[in-house]
Amino acid sequence: MAASAPVDIRNWIRDIPDFPKPGILFKDITPLLGNADAFKTSIDLLAEEFQGKGIDVIAAAEARGFIFGAPLAVQMGAGFVPIRKPGKLPYATIAQEYALEYGSDRLEVHSDALGPGRRVLLIDDVLATGGTMCACRDLVKSTGAELVACAFVIELSFLGGRPKLEPCEVFSLVTY
Ligand code: AMP
Repeated sequence: MAASAPVDIRNWIRDIPDFPKPGILFKDITPLLGNADAFKTSIDLLAEEFQGKGIDVIAAAEARGFIFGAPLAVQMGAGFVPIRKPGKLPYATIAQEYALEYGSDRLEVHSDALGPGRRVLLIDDVLATGGTMCACRDLVKSTGAELVACAFVIELSFLGGRPKLEPCEVFSLVTY
């Protein structure tokens, strides 16, 4: 049987203009998720990048971070830690506030989920302004865990998220 061509995951990301509001070009990952080869390729490429770096926990913020974080954790032989919006986690939590365009929001993690000695990889679908990932970074660091890197399927470089996360390592599969 002939070897199949490698999947270019860029071909499976759809642009939706003016969603969820005018002026936003939304990067829709549902075509990628719906294609077995493209979804698997995205997880394979992320795992390849971080294999051998001693990561024992993948952490991700709801909701789209979970979609990539959970299969990546399984593939890498790591645990998965959910970072959630207020009031969703049942046990004691620690929280991080972060600024939104208007007002602020808050992310929470279980107080016993991370801590000194854990080596953590944070993952999300899209790096835009970096606000969400900066809050996740601060949350992980406040537990005493070691943040190894922040990884994304898509980076919107023109929105300036990467410099806000550095000197932490930032890795993206596709950059616009
Ligand atoms: P930010 O905090 O600005 O980096 O935004 C990151 C979060 O918002 C990610 O979790 C994405 O799911 C979502 N997001 C922001 N901008 C976009 C976009 N243009 N297309 C798709 N998702 C986006």
